Amino acid sequence: MRIYEVEYNAESPIILSRSSVTNVFHNSYKYLPGSTIRGAILTYLINNNHDIKEEMVKPSMLFHPAFPVKDDLVFKPAQVLLFRCKLCNTYKPLNPYEVNLDNLDNFEMPFKCDNGHPFALKPIGGELIAIKDGRVEEYKPKYAIFDSVGINRVTGSSDVNLIYTYIALINAKYRGLIVTNDSCKFDLKELLDNEVIFVGKGINRGFGCLRVKIKEKSKHDIIKKYDKLNNKIVLKALSPIFNINISDNGLVTNYEFKIKLSRCKILSNGSMYVSGFSIVSNTEKVKIAALKEGSLLITDNISEDDIADIVLNGIGPFICAGFNIVEVLDHDSPY
Ligand SMILES: [Zn+2]
Repeated sequence: MRIYEVEYNAESPIILSRSSVTNVFHNSYKYLPGSTIRGAILTYLINNNHDIKEEMVKPSMLFHPAFPVKDDLVFKPAQVLLFRCKLCNTYKPLNPYEVNLDNLDNFEMPFKCDNGHPFALKPIGGELIAIKDGRVEEYKPKYAIFDSVGINRVTGSSDVNLIYTYIALINAKYRGLIVTNDSCKFDLKELLDNEVIFVGKGINRGFGCLRVKIKEKSKHDIIKKYDKLNNKIVLKALSPIFNINISDNGLVTNYEFKIKLSRCKILSNGSMYVSGFSIVSNTEKVKIAALKEGSLLITDNISEDDIADIVLNGIGPFICAGFNIVEVLDHDSPY
C-alpha cells in the first residue's frame, strides 16, 4: 500500500456542477469529490499513453475527496449534531460520544445557544468547517461570474440562445489522499507531481485547471492514536456513504454498516442521490441513494488496526471513486 497526500491548486476558475437545464452553470460542490479526481487523473494517464484498462476493471487506486485549504486549515464536513445560532453566530456541538443512543426518548435537541437565544439554532451538519484556536470557522468560497457567448457554427456569429453564464470558484486549493494497493502499477508521485489535471465544466474555455503537488506519506503520518469514550468510537462521513446488497429485487442500496460483524448505529444527516460520469461511455452512471456527509456511524467493537484500515480504505463499496470515506471524530473536539 502507498499513501499520497495530494494538493490541488487551481490555476483557473473551477465549475463542478450537476447537470443544468438552463444556460447557467453554478459551481455546486464545495470540495472535490473522489470521482471527479479519479476521472481527471485517469484522463491524464490516457492522454499520456498509459494503459488504464486494468484500472477501469479492477481499481487499485482509492481517491479520497479533497477538501478546501485556507491558511493551512483543511475545511471538512461538520458532524450532524453541530448547530449555529442565527443571532450571534456562535456554534454549539452536541457530543455524540455523550448522547445515549440506546434511549432516544430522553434525547433532547438543544434549543438555546450559549448566549441564551431561544429557537435560533440552525443545524449545519455537512457544511465545511475547520477549527482554529478551538473555534469553528466555516468555509466561504470565492465566486466569480463569467459570461460566455457561443458561436453558431452555421452563421459564424453569436446567437441569442447561446449565452452561457458560469458561476465559478476562484483561488481554490484542495487537499486529499490517494491510497494505492500493491497491485497498482503507477507511481503517482513520479507521474503527476507538479503536473496539471482538468476538472469540471468549461475545460475547453480554460476552466478547471489544477496543478497537482504530491507527497508520499506513511500510515503513521495519517493515523493518529484514538481512544474510546463511553466505550464508543464515532466515525464521521467525509463523503456520501452507502452499502450495497444483492436481494431478490436485484441490487439495492442500504445503510447497514458492519465492523467485525457488529452493526454500527447511525446518526443520519439526511440522504441524497450520488452518481458518477463514465469516462468510457461518456454518460451519467446509475444513481445511488446515500447518506450525506456529516452522518455518524457509532461502533464499540473496533481495534486500532481496524480504524487504520477503515480510515484509509473506506467502509463500503466504490471507495475508488471517493465514496464511503470516514474519519474518527475526536471526542475532545466533537465537530
Ligand atoms: Zn445566540
